[in-house]
Amino acid sequence: MREVHHFIDGGVVKGASGRFADIFDPNTGNVQAQVALAAESELAAAAEAAAKAFPAWAATNPQRRARVMFEFKRLLEANLDELAELLSSEHGKVVADSRGDVQRGIDVVEFACGIPHLMKGEYTEGAGPGIDVFSMRQPLGVCAGITPFNFPAMIPCWMAAVAIACGNTFILKPSEKDPSVPMRLGELMLEAGAPEGVLNVVNGDKVAVDAILEHPEIRAVSFVGSSDIAHYVYSKGTAHAKRVQAMGGAKNHGIILPDADMDQAVKDIVGAAYGSAGERCMALPVAVTVGEKTGDEFVARMSEAARGLKVGTSTDPEAHYGPVVSAAHRSRIEDYIQMGVDEGAELVMDGRGHTLQGHENGFFIGPSLFDRVRPDMRSYRDEIFGPVLQVVRADTLEEAAALPSSHQYGNGVAIFTQNGRAAREFAAQVNVGMVGINVPIPVPVSYHTFGGWKRSAFGDTNQHGPEGVRFWTKIKTVTQRWPEDDIGDQAFVIPTMG
Ligand code: NAD
Repeated sequence: MREVHHFIDGGVVKGASGRFADIFDPNTGNVQAQVALAAESELAAAAEAAAKAFPAWAATNPQRRARVMFEFKRLLEANLDELAELLSSEHGKVVADSRGDVQRGIDVVEFACGIPHLMKGEYTEGAGPGIDVFSMRQPLGVCAGITPFNFPAMIPCWMAAVAIACGNTFILKPSEKDPSVPMRLGELMLEAGAPEGVLNVVNGDKVAVDAILEHPEIRAVSFVGSSDIAHYVYSKGTAHAKRVQAMGGAKNHGIILPDADMDQAVKDIVGAAYGSAGERCMALPVAVTVGEKTGDEFVARMSEAARGLKVGTSTDPEAHYGPVVSAAHRSRIEDYIQMGVDEGAELVMDGRGHTLQGHENGFFIGPSLFDRVRPDMRSYRDEIFGPVLQVVRADTLEEAAALPSSHQYGNGVAIFTQNGRAAREFAAQVNVGMVGINVPIPVPVSYHTFGGWKRSAFGDTNQHGPEGVRFWTKIKTVTQRWPEDDIGDQAFVIPTMG
């Protein structure tokens, strides 16, 4: 059986802990490979390799580091088909969607190509007599990223591309469910010209994560995953005096006003709710309709649209979405559907028990639609992370807008309306980090920045964009003076520029 090991110091290193996890083929339910789970000592070896590579890489001028990023981008593009197929085979999302996952990663690499400009710093000439002040951004040292299963190309690139372009060296700890694309990223970064030890990939579970959080050489940790673990990583990492950003779960709402273009809203939301089997942190699993008429029309048209969805294997070019990542995850989704029924929501469409001929053991689940979901229900408050759309009915925009604002998660939100003033006011007031106006999945472009609020993110700096550069660098401010005259007794008082 195929085995996935680690990529440390420029080469594949066999896992030595004796512990492995299964990698499934979600289409068939079969185990297709095994991934080594690192022991603390293997993480330490990666940290040592990264520490050894750091001084020379940090001293490589930014233009040369950018050239490595340009080449990395070219290699990702040249290997896009292979990467997308590999990604789909372990994750289960359809290949077209996997291509989007890789492309979103490439977009961030492209952003990182601009690093010479992004790290230029600031300069004030003549801040006082003979005095100039300037600031420079310097890399932190060895950094680490811990990533979830659902975007195994994009999210590692969010972190590693920006951190490495800034002059850091990096340890990536991907999800053990689909580690093969992250391993390829390590190989391609080396092929692009990054020296050995600049990007290391250590596979593993909690043992590897704890080793990262405790390792004295690792300066900063970026995490993306579920909220409880994000909070754990944030607390433990900061207790070990590391810089930490930890993105968590989500429950994104789409608000549909009576004046919305209903054709567009239904088309957008069917994709945003069910695409990738709902396994996206920017999926739209809650639709809030304003007014009974809007609710009736939306539910009728959405159930028709959802009935038209084709659930198929990840390689079926006609499938709208594929299987979910594991049998355990499918059971969890099915439990939430039962919870919704028990809590009194109306189950308009039940996706449980969906099987695909010839793939009876695959992790498939059909689309589910709930109407008249109430905010006090646990199935509404929790993240389900599956192909389940919950409709909450509101009477007014104020009532609708209060829902995402008061929800425990605050990743993304969308509003569908033709009323510019209402949309503008909503975007300004809502207590959520990323807002779409007639855009169902408002994932910001790479040169802006990605990050939610409340339990969707711990820490205060976002992913990629200028915020990403800030996270992966520290600022140094230099005040220099070349006085022409004697400065007298000034040295005894706090200097001012007055
Ligand atoms: P997860 O929290 O189970 O795993 C994320 C990472 O944490 C993995 O690398 C995993 O190996 C590690 N991990 C798992 N259990 C751990 C433990 N007990 N201690 C330490 N580390 C542990 O998340 P997942 O199921 O892979 O991904 C789905 C979740 O990620 C969803 O909640 C989704 O909303 C969230 N997500 C958030 C964003 C965002 O930007 N906010 C983006 C993508 C996914």
